[in-house]
Amino acid sequence: MLHAANNQGCADRWPGTDTPLTLRFLVTFDDGPHPNTGKVLRHLARNTVQPHIKGIFFVQTRHAKRGGSSDGRAMLEIERAEGHLLGLHTGTAKGHLSHTGMSPADLERSLLDGKEDLDQITGKPTMLVRPPYWLFNAATLDSYGRHRLHMLLSDIKAFDGVNWGIHLLRKLNFRSQLAGLRTRFLRGTLPVMNHTIPIVVTFHDTNSFTAEHLGDYLSLLVEEAARLGLPLHDKPFLDDPDELLAAALRCARSSPHPERTPALVQEAQ
Ligand SMILES: [Zn+2]
Repeated sequence: MLHAANNQGCADRWPGTDTPLTLRFLVTFDDGPHPNTGKVLRHLARNTVQPHIKGIFFVQTRHAKRGGSSDGRAMLEIERAEGHLLGLHTGTAKGHLSHTGMSPADLERSLLDGKEDLDQITGKPTMLVRPPYWLFNAATLDSYGRHRLHMLLSDIKAFDGVNWGIHLLRKLNFRSQLAGLRTRFLRGTLPVMNHTIPIVVTFHDTNSFTAEHLGDYLSLLVEEAARLGLPLHDKPFLDDPDELLAAALRCARSSPHPERTPALVQEAQ
C-alpha cells in the first residue's frame, strides 16, 4: 500500500510518514434536478460497492425544466429527505449560464435567489457552490465570498456530458485522473481531514447513461483506485451528511484558485 509523504502544504498535519491515510470518494452531481435523478438516488442507496452513499447535488433552482418545476422542486425535497446535500449551481430561470459571462447584477440576483430557494428546502444556510462549466474568476469568487458560498470544484470528472458508451473508455478516463491524484497523494499535497483524504468526483444526474449505470461507475472508481495501490477506506464513499459537508468545505478551502479553469468537455444541459 502507498503512503503519503508529510503534507507540508496543508493545514492538517500528522506525525511521521507512517500514519495511515485513507481515501474516500465524495460524489457530486451537477445540473439537476431531472427526471433521471430518482434513478441516481436509487443507485446511491443500493449498489454492489457500498449501500447508502450520500452525495452533493449542485442544482438549478429556477430553470423551468429543473428546480423551477413542481416535479423538480419535489425532487429537491426528496434529495434532502434522503440525506443528500444541496449546493447551488444556478439560481436563474435562464438556467445553465456561466457565472463569468453574467453581469454582476445578474450574478448577484442568481446567487441570492438560488440560496433563498435552497435555504427554504433545507432549513439551513446553503454553503456550497459549483460554477457552471467550472468557470470562475476573481469577481465571481468575490461574489461567492460575499454570500458565504464555498466553491467546490472536482478532482475527478466522469465527463458524462459526453455519453461514454464504451466501458474501456470510462475505465481509462478514471484511471488517468486517478493516476494524477496518486502523484499528488505521494507528494502530500491533497487536503486531509481526520486522516482521510476526500476525492471529489463529478457526475451529472441529468445524463441518462449515468442514471442507468451509476453503479458501474462506482465499481470502476474502486477498482481503478485499487489497481493504482491507493489506500481506500473500508467504506470508500462518504456516507454521512455531516462528514460530507466537512469534507466539502475542507476541499473547497484548499482548492487552487487560478483565474480560469478550462472546461474540457461541455457539461450536459
Ligand atoms: Zn453544469
